[in-house]
Amino acid sequence: MNLILLGAPGAGKGTQAEVICNHLSIPAISTGNIIREALSKGTEMGLKAKSFIDAGQLVPDDVVIGIIKERLAKDDCKNGFILDGFPRTIPQAEALDNMGIVIDKVIDIEVPDEKIVTRMSGRRVCSKCGASFHLEHRKPAKEGICDVCGGELIQRKDDHPDTVLDRLKVYHEQTEPLKGYYEKAGLLTIVEGQEDVADTTALILKALED
Ligand code: AMP
Repeated sequence: MNLILLGAPGAGKGTQAEVICNHLSIPAISTGNIIREALSKGTEMGLKAKSFIDAGQLVPDDVVIGIIKERLAKDDCKNGFILDGFPRTIPQAEALDNMGIVIDKVIDIEVPDEKIVTRMSGRRVCSKCGASFHLEHRKPAKEGICDVCGGELIQRKDDHPDTVLDRLKVYHEQTEPLKGYYEKAGLLTIVEGQEDVADTTALILKALED
């Protein structure tokens, strides 16, 4: 199954992508994680992306389209994939169509803006593997340590409240129109993000069966 997870930053796409990829045995692909990895390695693409990420802005379309094209060509995507954080603009969605990629479903996780701001201030991510945790809603077994790989949990710079507001603005202006794009294509299902991560997962898995 070729699946897209849509939603505002902090709506829980990354967490859900990690859980669902285990259920479906297909890779979860996060453009944000790929870019952050490039950044930590100091590659040219990473350095190019840094100023955009730090300001809560989107990285230019041609950069992320190149990243996704390369990633989807890998063998592990043959039986399907979950896209988390791509596409984020209409030109990115069009580029995906032009690559001849057929999308089976698009799940939009809806969470009101007020909740996003509170949620993101409590979000912690693994500095090694990128797994996502929350101080209240998804506590790691050991404080400050990643359950998946034992890495240190940190707060992303772009999860600070001021940047979150900028990212929400960018989301409403540039990413939200994708709902209409995929609704027109008959692919969109809206899922209300729940307080409990497992409850949202259950709603998504049910939507995937329909
Ligand atoms: P994320 O981890 O998905 O919230 O992404 C973190 C940041 O990476 C975003 O705020 C953007 O600056 C950049 N980014 C990730 N995916 C995309 C995309 N599809 N298009 C443009 N920028 C992106």
